[in-house]
Amino acid sequence: MEEVGTGLLDRLDAMQRVAASAPGGPLLIVAGPGTGKTRTLTHRIAYLCAELNVFPEHCLAITFTRRAAEELRHRLDGLLGPVAEDVTVGTFHALGLSILRENADAAGLPVNFRIADDAERAAARSEAGDDPSGYTALLRKQDLVDLDELVSLPVELLRADRELVGRYRDRWRWIFVDEYQDVDAVQYELLRLLSPADGNLCAIGDPDQAIYSFRGADVGYFLRFSEDFTDARLVRLNRNYRSSAPILAAAVQAIAPSSLVRGRRLDPARLDPEAPLVGRYPAASVAEEADFVVRTVDELVGGLSHRSLDSGRIDGRSTTLSFSDIAVLYRTDAQAAPIVDALARANIPVQKRSHDRLRDRPGVAAIARELRHADGLAGSLAARVRLAGQVVAERFAVPTLDGAGVGRPEDVRSAVDLLTPLARRCGDDLETFLSQLATGAEVDALDPRAEAVTLLTLHAAKGLEFPVVFLVGAEDGLLPLRWPGSTPDEDAVAEERRLFFVGLTRAQDRLYVTHAARRVRHGVERDCAPSPFLGAIDPGLFERFGEAEPRRPKDRQLRLI
Ligand code: ATP
Ligand code: MG
Repeated sequence: MEEVGTGLLDRLDAMQRVAASAPGGPLLIVAGPGTGKTRTLTHRIAYLCAELNVFPEHCLAITFTRRAAEELRHRLDGLLGPVAEDVTVGTFHALGLSILRENADAAGLPVNFRIADDAERAAARSEAGDDPSGYTALLRKQDLVDLDELVSLPVELLRADRELVGRYRDRWRWIFVDEYQDVDAVQYELLRLLSPADGNLCAIGDPDQAIYSFRGADVGYFLRFSEDFTDARLVRLNRNYRSSAPILAAAVQAIAPSSLVRGRRLDPARLDPEAPLVGRYPAASVAEEADFVVRTVDELVGGLSHRSLDSGRIDGRSTTLSFSDIAVLYRTDAQAAPIVDALARANIPVQKRSHDRLRDRPGVAAIARELRHADGLAGSLAARVRLAGQVVAERFAVPTLDGAGVGRPEDVRSAVDLLTPLARRCGDDLETFLSQLATGAEVDALDPRAEAVTLLTLHAAKGLEFPVVFLVGAEDGLLPLRWPGSTPDEDAVAEERRLFFVGLTRAQDRLYVTHAARRVRHGVERDCAPSPFLGAIDPGLFERFGEAEPRRPKDRQLRLI
């Protein structure tokens, strides 16, 4: 446990300290990328509990992803020690689920209600046709709730019961929401019910990183925070601790044409005069683009693995590079294949983030159902998952035709392997395990410590940072993304630009932006112009590679063995 007290805030800069120690009441923290949002949020909770005698059980911290919730929990544990367990930390879905569990009766649900899996949703949907109230009734008949209802049902419940609202407001007197720019209408409504207009609601985020409007998120809630909440205090964090000065300058110029933050400022905390410029590589083809990535990774890691890369780097960061320091970011999943192939051919280890949900994997739903139904299973949750897997595998070995019952035993084995880490993370709590599964726990093989180059979509890269970033496919049509021949509207282009901004700002020390002159899209090879977003960046911030004299790929025969 870290030392609390004044020492706690010593680890923050002046503005972070103002935000962390602000008095109660509505508080909006507008903070650009790399300005230490999570650091500030966790220190604020720790400060309130340790210094102002706020009870941890009166604190509710909401995030958008399970991974972010785990990270927040981990950091709070470090700051507060065991009492951090009393802080409620979770996603909107998990919060909604716990409200419904506590009030199942009032919500008209049986105590043992569960969340419909995809097969159950599909079956109800096909039976109900176009009739949504048909659909809901069919789910209810089987004691099921749709995933989307995890937030909307608590909203309905609270709207109808002011006393219940009072009870929750009394429990969670301090509410913290990370990435507030991504809230949607229903989540916003839930927050309004849980927090009075003059409540201790602390919202933190960056409108310029709002990239989820296609999922219903509305940055408008962020922008009108001070109209919705009384006497809201505003704190801005402008100091970026993540990126070198040239990377930060390029990112700030890139977002400028559609920044949603008036007077947006991002000052580099890192002022290394030797910092390299942003690399730009115009490739003739996708194959050449992939080859550039391979060659550069090889030079950075292979050539320098045991030498100091930048002498005198700040913050005591590691001065040598390994594969785990490198990420390749792209707009669409389809772009990953040629890069993965090229890296693999060069014997460079890669890991790719998967967005697949665990519950969609074959065998997973059957195992989950077995755990629900089979009281006889004993032992740790991981052991029970294994046992349930055996039961399901035996059933699968005998093909039947009764629905999710037909499957391959090897699918069940890999389902057990996928479920075991989740079971361990949830301790012995079956309820948490099932609810995480239902609320979209991902098949996530991404290990931040793995000695491998990480491949991610720009959306998935949000919130992360890497010493070296390649942003590939910076082409018109991919960034901004659009169907050939179509013209996206202004709002869509602005959101794509924000996505570009998110990508650029993941880089700490080295950033390479690449584009190919020809690429197959929608089955046809087409000419591609560089992304118009590049035009907003001062050419002096780029170091251009590969134009004068295309470099031949290094002889990598040894590595191919
Ligand atoms: P994003 O918008 O991309 O999610 P963020 O605002 O959440 O960014 P963090 O990831 O919390 O930023 O912080 C960025 C980096 O800056 C981290 O490596 C963090 O440790 C470092 N950092 C933050 N505040 C400070 C500080 N006061 N002193 C030194 N380093 C800091
Ligand atoms: Mg963050």
